[in-house]
Amino acid sequence: MDFTKIIEPLNDAQRAAVTAPNRAMLVLAGAGSGKTRVLVHRIAWQIQVEGIPAHSILAVTFTNKAAREMRQRIEQLLNISTHTMWIGTFHGLAHRLLRRHANAAKLPDTFQVMDSADQLRVIKRIVAAMNLDEGRWPPKQIQWFINAQKDEGKRARHQLESGDFYLRQMLAVYKAYEETCDRTGLVDFAELLLRVHELMRDNPDLLDFYQRRFLQVHVDEFQDTNTIQYAWLRLLTEGKDNLFVVGDDDQSIYGWRGARIENIFNFQKHYKNHELIKLEQNYRSTGNILNAANKVISMNEARMGKELWTNAGDGEPISLYAAFNELDEAYFVVERIKAWVNEGGLRSEIAILYRSNAQSRQFEEKLMSTGTPYRVYGGLRFFERAEIKNALAYLRLMANRHDDASFERVINTPARGLGAKAIEDIRLLAKEQEVSLWQASALLVEQKAPSPRARTALAGFMDLIERLSQETGELELYQKVELVNEHSGLVYLYQTEKGDRGEEKLENLVELINAARLFDAEQENEENLSELDLFLAHAALEAGDMQGDDFDDCVQLMTLHSAKGLEFKLVFMVGMEEGLFPAQQSADDIIRLEEERRLCYVGMTRAMRQLYLTYAESRRIYGRENYPKSSRFIREIPPELIQEVRLRGSINRPGNPINTTGFKVQSHRFNLGQRVGHAKFGEGVVLQIEGEGAQERAQINFKQAGVKWLMLNYAQLEAL
Ligand code: ATP
Ligand code: MG
Repeated sequence: MDFTKIIEPLNDAQRAAVTAPNRAMLVLAGAGSGKTRVLVHRIAWQIQVEGIPAHSILAVTFTNKAAREMRQRIEQLLNISTHTMWIGTFHGLAHRLLRRHANAAKLPDTFQVMDSADQLRVIKRIVAAMNLDEGRWPPKQIQWFINAQKDEGKRARHQLESGDFYLRQMLAVYKAYEETCDRTGLVDFAELLLRVHELMRDNPDLLDFYQRRFLQVHVDEFQDTNTIQYAWLRLLTEGKDNLFVVGDDDQSIYGWRGARIENIFNFQKHYKNHELIKLEQNYRSTGNILNAANKVISMNEARMGKELWTNAGDGEPISLYAAFNELDEAYFVVERIKAWVNEGGLRSEIAILYRSNAQSRQFEEKLMSTGTPYRVYGGLRFFERAEIKNALAYLRLMANRHDDASFERVINTPARGLGAKAIEDIRLLAKEQEVSLWQASALLVEQKAPSPRARTALAGFMDLIERLSQETGELELYQKVELVNEHSGLVYLYQTEKGDRGEEKLENLVELINAARLFDAEQENEENLSELDLFLAHAALEAGDMQGDDFDDCVQLMTLHSAKGLEFKLVFMVGMEEGLFPAQQSADDIIRLEEERRLCYVGMTRAMRQLYLTYAESRRIYGRENYPKSSRFIREIPPELIQEVRLRGSINRPGNPINTTGFKVQSHRFNLGQRVGHAKFGEGVVLQIEGEGAQERAQINFKQAGVKWLMLNYAQLEAL
């Protein structure tokens, strides 16, 4: 048996982890030290050398993209199909188990997963039905509360009736929400995890079956597991000590969403015979990048403490660019991308990382206008677009008539003459009778209760769904989608919508047909689920996978959070400003600030060869001009590792029109972005110039004195 391919590309510590006998193991190591590599090679080793059957492997990773990469890497190593292995995200695997055992999990066979926007809509409806004031009981806050409860494994009924008025009210909404979800067969993301934990806990036979089946359980990015995920892992490996986890406390970035770094300590307590392996060599980044990242993270107090080294050489210094506004920032980044590609680099080797999704737009526009292919992860995902959700709502109703969220969504889209009154009647009856909206509609039609016009419309709608579901039964999935698009009237609706948006929506509907055609239920479908069910779950669980292909050569745009575990030769971390990163709310709270700093560490350590940090000296947020300070994280990097890039001259050349905000690009005295000195205010940067001749004024951001408008004739500014 030749297993050199598995162990040769590993260092000693990695090899020890890969080949260790089956027992609980914790690989705790910094970024880029080969944790994921170890996990993949260990799976390969177990199959090839230990003879563990592929279907006994369970591996949990954090994103769908990471799961796909893991499969590919195992397939490359072993030349076997990974179809029978259970490799996926916590949510994906939980969904799979719940489908298999829906009845034992007390769910209807037709249950549907809802994303967080759907969840919010359901909560809003409940808040309204309970006559609560949305101002005092913001639905988003309630959503947060409910999910946090679920992440901790708590049901509404578990809580004592004590607690203050606020808590009791929140629990009352939580309870009503649970009842609605149960009645309508809807499952939110947090519920997937909680439900699967309860399923295993309350069904000893089932638990026994899976404990025997999964001979080894692997977890990547263990530092970001939450209470309920860890509890589930413990159940699965109880008494067998066959849990293999890799992680890095310095990369824990989901505390705000319930992740528990304590799980690392708990693991060490619970699995007494575990082996702890540390990896210290970084194989990803140059010395400069690694040293800078090490320095930044060393500012955190709460850490287990470890240093990484590399023998890759120093490489280029970290480049810092101070843009004078957000347009300049985007312009700069895209210029650098062009240069990289001109020198023979690939676009797919480049990532633009930002703190929040809304920051992508500026870069998208610039990339688009220069014809540079790019792909955005997250953001308004394909499956979250209104037109797509409409089409999916029809499909979901075909799968489960009691899906109230979908019912509400399309009962009058396209408009079929059902007014607000008619819909309110349906809601009221549903509430009164404790039935789904669908059942309530059937009752109303039967009792001939609503006006004749509304009755005809309602009966027509129900008939449409029934017919669609019967007539498309035998068709291929993509044909189903095609028919739904047509017969639902959505195609006609968008054809007749004015402007470009209608066109775009139509294109997206066509794209949905394509998505259905290409949809390949990657995992072996032991559950005999219909393709439609699998597709709908995919739509709810998958993140932004529709824009371009993974393998297309395009620039990758994503939040720092979604970059975890990935690597790119060239990385831009943009918007490095106080208030953006660290985010405003985190600056004064040490715990949150440290999480932001870990996020910065994650971002920096994605870079293999070259890292750019950029910030804007003036940024328009919600239509208002802001003058942020550069991020403290920049100042935490030793200055000798940083090289400031100045590109001002080229920005202001005629023919580089960045002047889309309505101000002058150039005055005969000063350029935008130019550094100037003032006798009283000191050094500053020119942000805007207005007026002519004696009226000419400039807005200047002074380092010490802040932003000022000055008349140029009097100010006696000096160019620096
Ligand atoms: P992160 O903490 O960011 O998830 P990681 O610890 O999981 O990082 P990997 O992604 O597994 O690290 O590895 C980082 C890079 O180093 C990858 O390109 C990997 O192929 C490479 N690498 C890992 N170990 C070795 C090794 N022994 N020899 C050569 N290259 C290696
Ligand atoms: Mg990794």
